[in-house]
Amino acid sequence: MTDTPLVSELLNDSELHVSSQLKQSPEVVETQGPIETDDLFIDAPKWRKYEQVSCVFADLAGSTSLRKGRWESSTASIYDAAIKPAVSILADFGADFIEIQGDAAFGLFTGKYSQRRAICAGITIKTFGQQVLVPALENRWPSDPPKTGFKVGCAVSDLLSKKIGISRTAHRAPVWAGRAVNYAAKCSQQAQAHEMIVTKPIADSIRRNEYLWYSCSCGDAPTTLWNERHIEKVSGKDSEGLILTSSWCPNCGDLYCERICSGSWRRPDLDSKRNGMLHEKYQQVIKLHEQNSQQIRRNI
Ligand SMILES: [Zn+2]
Repeated sequence: MTDTPLVSELLNDSELHVSSQLKQSPEVVETQGPIETDDLFIDAPKWRKYEQVSCVFADLAGSTSLRKGRWESSTASIYDAAIKPAVSILADFGADFIEIQGDAAFGLFTGKYSQRRAICAGITIKTFGQQVLVPALENRWPSDPPKTGFKVGCAVSDLLSKKIGISRTAHRAPVWAGRAVNYAAKCSQQAQAHEMIVTKPIADSIRRNEYLWYSCSCGDAPTTLWNERHIEKVSGKDSEGLILTSSWCPNCGDLYCERICSGSWRRPDLDSKRNGMLHEKYQQVIKLHEQNSQQIRRNI
């Protein structure tokens, strides 16, 4: 056992550190992705700056109530069951950095199609929660299944990073300064289970991509999947976001995800409808027209 430290010494050491830190003006080193945590500075007052990093933040809804009336081991197994696949999904979509924070995880994406990969990772985590996790919990505890699912947020900005803590020990970790992580967390906090909220720059990309913006053709005529959502505690234009409540279609998810992450935006099945779909109000007209033509075909 170590000796009890002297409070006065701890405070003196802290004071020296604070005054030396505040005297220095930190240096910002422009760095190309991918983010390598081994390259982050720790003792030097240097921050690496990465441009346009997309962050996906996934939080397990209602995790405090998971504990209610259950053994702690059940709660622990729900955490493990839920968080590990979310982390694997972030990794498989090529996140450069992933951090687990209890019942939440976030991933940072840089490089080619990073914004698209982040969006697809977010939708996939939400789909996993709704289509895999919840049915499994209902199966395991049929009478009173824990109510949960993922609340997902997504944002993008330049980020500054360095490691903070004690060098050459386990007591150190990268920290991220910039809007992306903070805003993605705010989006996630304001979502319900199985919802994904994104800030404006991400929303703008989604609007420009037919694979993301419209529903597939499996059911009714394609319609807009996202709704406008004002995001609280997010400043300026970034707060003009979007919310998604639907998940990947079991038939189209694989193909759409592949198309999105390889740079496509244009859906061949919408070629004949594109002009009309530029104006949302014409969607209803198209739907009516299709119903009419089906009716006409039936009558013939
Ligand atoms: Zn489909």
